[in-house]
Amino acid sequence: MAENYIVSARKYRPDSFQSIVGQGAMASTLRTAVLQGRLAHAYLFCGPRGVGKTTAARVLAKTINCMHLSPEGEACNECESCRAFNEGRSFNIFELDAASNNSVEDIRQLTEQVGMPPALGKYKVYIIDEVHMLSVTAFNAFLKTLEEPPSYAIFILATTEKHKILPTILSRCQIYDFKRITVQDITRHLQYVATSEGIEADETALGLIAEKADGGMRDALSMFDRISSFAGGKITYEHALESLNVLDYAYFIRAFDLLLAGDYRSLLLLLDELLGKGFEGQTILSGLAAFARDLLVVQHPGTSSLLEKPERVTAEYVALASRCTAPQLFTAIRALVQADQQYRGATNKRLLIELTLLGLVPVFHSEGELTPTPSSSPKPTVASSPTASKVATQASPAPSPQPTPVPSAQPIP
Ligand SMILES: [Zn+2]
Repeated sequence: MAENYIVSARKYRPDSFQSIVGQGAMASTLRTAVLQGRLAHAYLFCGPRGVGKTTAARVLAKTINCMHLSPEGEACNECESCRAFNEGRSFNIFELDAASNNSVEDIRQLTEQVGMPPALGKYKVYIIDEVHMLSVTAFNAFLKTLEEPPSYAIFILATTEKHKILPTILSRCQIYDFKRITVQDITRHLQYVATSEGIEADETALGLIAEKADGGMRDALSMFDRISSFAGGKITYEHALESLNVLDYAYFIRAFDLLLAGDYRSLLLLLDELLGKGFEGQTILSGLAAFARDLLVVQHPGTSSLLEKPERVTAEYVALASRCTAPQLFTAIRALVQADQQYRGATNKRLLIELTLLGLVPVFHSEGELTPTPSSSPKPTVASSPTASKVATQASPAPSPQPTPVPSAQPIP
């Protein structure tokens, strides 16, 4: 790694409202407020970690101090104030991380500075991160300043836990709720970072990182850095899979292929393979349930937007979903969720998963060896009928003359 290596989360931190990823509505409201000169003295930025709260606070601080604001309400990045901000030497911005500095003394140091007007630019901006972590006395000391702030002072409070903020503080702030960033938005940004860094990256690999990041850009970028450092210039889906140790959708596609083929032996072997890779039984159950739900939503254009996947992956889901019926998927979701709930209390956890999967085989494949009623008449069983599904999930004890050996059902440690 080069000596001047800078982590991507810092290197590609947005420096304008426009470049803030995934918070479009919030960014444009702030920009409009700046343009119209309607600024509040206190803002509260709420939302999950890593979604851009502090970044937006810094952009706002720079923009309201810019001497040549663009007609769109963006900082010029050229005036003395902007340069000072970009080089991290502006005296108009103060940041306090209340997670580690939450004493009344820390707040006093901050409020003492509030008394001095800015030497350059119009506003002094005080950012208090994780503001809910302030001690009660610190909170009270801060409240006094918040009640009578000088005209040039602006406070931006950020928190992941809005419900912990006192009503007296809430009522004095303009509140902005930051959203989780969508998988698509994160994927697109990672693609941009990869291109800028000259790294070749599969869209599916970036999609996997985005999904694992669960809405947080900072986490996504640090995963990206970690993977690219060992992948060496090219990030493949396998690299991402190996590094993130996620239970990949490809396994679930295999599982449903086997269900549709009625091949329960291979299904048991697939389960064995997953457990062998160290995946928790419960992760497998809930993963399968979520996957079945995803198949159900992509079956209809009205709900397909509920699937957050890169395009190429979505196409695979759609193809598989078209081979299943909605009642089949519904039965699968219910059986898998039920097993997930029973998992903790099960004595033999592996057997519970196996039984659940075996019970689903006749739901998806109506004429296989596990079909509950081996009737002599050639009348096809409608697998999707509620009765058939019910019988199937209960794995009726139809006597089988030759029980098929299954992999040993040992409890999962
Ligand atoms: Zn400027």
